[in-house]
Amino acid sequence: MTISQTSTTSSSALAIHGGVPVRPRPVSMTTHLGPAARLRIAGVLERHEPLSEYYGGPWARRFEDEFARYHGADRHAVAVNSGTSALHVSLAAAGIGPGDEVIVPALAFVAAATAVVQLGAVPVICDAEPHSLTMDVRAAEALVTDRTRAILPVHLWGHPADLASLRALCDARGLVLVEDACQAPGAPVGAARTGTFGDFAAYSFANRKHIHCGDGGMVLCRTAEAARTVRSMANFGKGPGWDDYHTLGYNYRMVEVSALIGLEGLADLDDEIARRQHAASLYRQGLRDTDLAPVPAPAWGDSVYFKMPVLLPERHVARRQFVIDAIHAENVSSRIPHRPLFAVPWLAEYLRARGRYRGPEDCRVAASAHARLFEVETGPHLPAEEAARSVEAVRKVWRQLDGQAP
Ligand SMILES: *Cc1c(COP(=O)(O)O)cnc(C)c1O
Repeated sequence: MTISQTSTTSSSALAIHGGVPVRPRPVSMTTHLGPAARLRIAGVLERHEPLSEYYGGPWARRFEDEFARYHGADRHAVAVNSGTSALHVSLAAAGIGPGDEVIVPALAFVAAATAVVQLGAVPVICDAEPHSLTMDVRAAEALVTDRTRAILPVHLWGHPADLASLRALCDARGLVLVEDACQAPGAPVGAARTGTFGDFAAYSFANRKHIHCGDGGMVLCRTAEAARTVRSMANFGKGPGWDDYHTLGYNYRMVEVSALIGLEGLADLDDEIARRQHAASLYRQGLRDTDLAPVPAPAWGDSVYFKMPVLLPERHVARRQFVIDAIHAENVSSRIPHRPLFAVPWLAEYLRARGRYRGPEDCRVAASAHARLFEVETGPHLPAEEAARSVEAVRKVWRQLDGQAP
């Protein structure tokens, strides 16, 4: 069934106005756990195996090994209990501390800034580049001062930042590169993948992420030494001995059942990426004859589409909430993207108190794009026929919207 055939057969009255929704009910977003994983979990419980161990139990270790191998033979991974923990422990292992500056993109999830502030450091908010809305590398370079210690690109929506350029910039200026890859596991960047450019890369396995196991995270490290530091810091800063605490550390371990579920998600990751990329291609194709503009993937790589970000034309910006509500009523998930970091109230206050606030006037691309953006679903586990329905819902709302006076 092609999209144009669907559009001629579906009712044109919007569900929000009492019409028949494109999808009878929302797609279930629960974890898809195969029989093999269920048996393994039952086995851990029946054999009374530990559900969590210092430095990671056997399943957490296996998840780490397979996750590292997915990214190449010379990688090192440490499993943790969330993406936010992964970001925090990465920055801590990099030695970031009070007064240090970390450059973060305006278009991000708040956790990237949280991790910086947790260390008493200062997130310096950087604008987006206008094409793919990823971190603007030139803008980032202009923000480097003698207090800058790290750059933290966020691959929002699954769109990878320009990692080759950021790596070169960090090498030239002696900075640490930490990737927030929570929305972009496995995204292609040239012949490589996200996570393999950074000194550290942070992943999340929370609900709706490409790999999801309730809550969980992973730190991918460039060197074995960095991975040892991360592992120690994620375990109270413990050394090899009992009661041997040699550095400030945290309790960030991943529990065994999460690792078992995560392993299942990792085995499915390439298929999940393919499903999400297929959904994205349906949106691009299906919205071609509208003035809705899906944000392009960057030239240096491809997106793995945590969500599909779409720009409304200026003439309909005032109706953004209606568009989202109307798509929702068709039983298709849609949202306003996370607010830009400069619009997070506590962060704005923290930065103002330090004279380091950078607002919308300093991040014009991000500010103007964000005002026009809405996101639509691409997963998890969205079958192709359901993705076609998601596209149809957006088309249906567009036809109503554009048929009306602006
Ligand atoms: C989900 C997410 C995080 C935080 O991960 P948690 O596991 O929820 O702590 C951080 N950054 C981005 C971009 C995310 O999408």
